[in-house]
Amino acid sequence: MRRSLLIALTASFAFLTACTTTTTTPTAQSAPQKKAPLLSVSQASSRLASIKARVEPVAERECKARTKGMNCDFLIQIDKKADAPPNAYQTVSKSGRPMITFTAALVSDARNNDELAFVMGHEAAHHMMGHIGRQQNDAMAGAVIVGILAAAAGADASVLDAAMDVGATVGARAYSKNYELEADRLGTIVTHRAGYNPVRGAEYFTRIPDPGNQFLGTHPPNSQRIAVVKQTAAKL
Ligand SMILES: [Zn+2]
Repeated sequence: MRRSLLIALTASFAFLTACTTTTTTPTAQSAPQKKAPLLSVSQASSRLASIKARVEPVAERECKARTKGMNCDFLIQIDKKADAPPNAYQTVSKSGRPMITFTAALVSDARNNDELAFVMGHEAAHHMMGHIGRQQNDAMAGAVIVGILAAAAGADASVLDAAMDVGATVGARAYSKNYELEADRLGTIVTHRAGYNPVRGAEYFTRIPDPGNQFLGTHPPNSQRIAVVKQTAAKL
């Protein structure tokens, strides 16, 4: 039982920590004219420097104002894997420091600094709202509930393992879209306070593949995300 839970939680943790802003490159037919040249890791790092210098202090201030005892000293960096697909994600280091990582491909794809500032604000918001921990709890609850049901139904060890994997996934995804919208809302505030335009920044979503409203998908439809950003920005 303990091993099963560990497997389920390990499986779910793999995607929990990778809060993915986008996972795939826009397809060739959507952009036949010009594809942004891929920046090197150091070029991407230079492009991000001025944005980081404005967004990080605001994110840190908002984080301290909104949380208690949380490490708010964000480390914002470029993924060392030069050929990683367009993505940005938030993780926490072993010492508890929040880290926001951009791949060079995402930085290359951004049309303006507002887009990069918005992605940064969105990822910082995930940390402030404790989304990694909340998703881990959701995963654990899902694994335990399904595990108990499967055990009660007389499942053997291998079936129980598989059932708990599914339970962890379902549990983790149950609130995932809400977490994304929450991060978009707070990310809009951070972006605005850092002096960038969050509505212009969220136009990034119009160029990435729309996940649509998939059952148990991890991300909400792009139109819903843009609407949330516009609503929030209108009140600022
Ligand atoms: Zn996110």
